[in-house]
Amino acid sequence: MSTYPTRAARRRTAPAARKQPSSRPAPLPAAAPNEAPGLGLVDLAGITVRLRSLRTRPGAFTAAFDAARTRPGYGHCLCTDPPRKLVIRRAQHRFYLASWPGDGANHAAGCTFHSSQHPSPGSPSSKPAISDNAQGARVHLRVALELRTSQRVGHEAASNPSSRAAGTSRTTLLALLHLLWERAGLTLYQPHDPHNRWSSCHDRLIAALGDMTVNGRRLDQVLHVVPPYRPGAPDSFTAFFRARLTAQGSSVRRGLLLGEVKEIAATGHGHRLHLRHQGQPLLFTNAQMSALRRSHPTVFAAAGAPGSRRIMLALLERSVRGVVTVHTAAAMLTNHTYLPADSSYEVVMADRLIAAGRTIRKPVRYQGEEEVFPDFVLPDDDPPTYVEVFGVRGRERYEQRKHAKKRYYLARGIPVIAWTVGTEPPLIPGRPALPGKESGPL
Ligand SMILES: [Zn+2]
Repeated sequence: MSTYPTRAARRRTAPAARKQPSSRPAPLPAAAPNEAPGLGLVDLAGITVRLRSLRTRPGAFTAAFDAARTRPGYGHCLCTDPPRKLVIRRAQHRFYLASWPGDGANHAAGCTFHSSQHPSPGSPSSKPAISDNAQGARVHLRVALELRTSQRVGHEAASNPSSRAAGTSRTTLLALLHLLWERAGLTLYQPHDPHNRWSSCHDRLIAALGDMTVNGRRLDQVLHVVPPYRPGAPDSFTAFFRARLTAQGSSVRRGLLLGEVKEIAATGHGHRLHLRHQGQPLLFTNAQMSALRRSHPTVFAAAGAPGSRRIMLALLERSVRGVVTVHTAAAMLTNHTYLPADSSYEVVMADRLIAAGRTIRKPVRYQGEEEVFPDFVLPDDDPPTYVEVFGVRGRERYEQRKHAKKRYYLARGIPVIAWTVGTEPPLIPGRPALPGKESGPL
């Protein structure tokens, strides 16, 4: 139900959409392969291990990681036959697994390492804002990460080296947040491998950062993911941003911060935003906070909704007085398991699906704004069931769109669970039985 606040995309698509709801529904993501018996299992140098065990007891598998890194040099995901290669990465004194660059779409739909591959919406003459290939994922943001001191105010594109590349499209912080969330496997909820703690999100995000670049810079060098709080741990926020935001000659550098919003408090002259697990608050002016709420109305309208969380990706810089300030930020709503949701009603639906024991994928649109996506997909059904939450009744355009979507699903035989807000929620069937799920490896 969401659209990106990408101004260019809005300009391009909104007027037509308002006048005339699309008579030809846009393509939906292809039905992905079904779960293989090896879903949730990985192979490290001939040892089959449950992915969940790797996450909960990483220290127990150091020797297996070491062996696999030596030979063959990578791990395997057993979600498909043949298995898919996995990158083994070492960061912050831990081993992590990540999908092979450009291979995310080949993992099973119910696999943590699965990521969708959207066709580039750009014209042949313009390079897409997000590309994903064997070299990794490249993102071109509209905002600059580095700019000359003399151009600190305005004229960002002129001072952003990568924006000078001819005809490169640019995207938003929210698109980067969605892409990162998907590559970290956080747009997928699996009953056997839930991610309902920030520590789990942090580890998955760190694993996903390794082969991503933003505006030509390695993402792990410009983004700080708030680490889970440990008593006595060094202040990583200050260390990261002291190093990152230090001006280099005549250029000003900015840095990205990703964390979960804890609370927002009004102060005399602005707002103080506290992230979970982090002592230092972020300071917003009143104008910045208003802009953030305007750009993400559902995120802030749903604030405090039971079981919802808010994730923030902020672009920080150092003021001329040396204070770390927010330049701009994007926010995303999730349910308690960090599964993204576009409204508080979707949070309710996600929780009902979880209660029914279902595997859930949340499609996120970091590219291809004009496509139609279901609100959720249940990849544990064959074919996968789509879930729709219809929230706004009465508006003609919305009603037409809703009926067009229903016709589209019906014509293609796609099973749908639909809930129109304000009516009795539908009964959610339980998880289909999968043979041999709980037997076997570690
Ligand atoms: Zn897989």
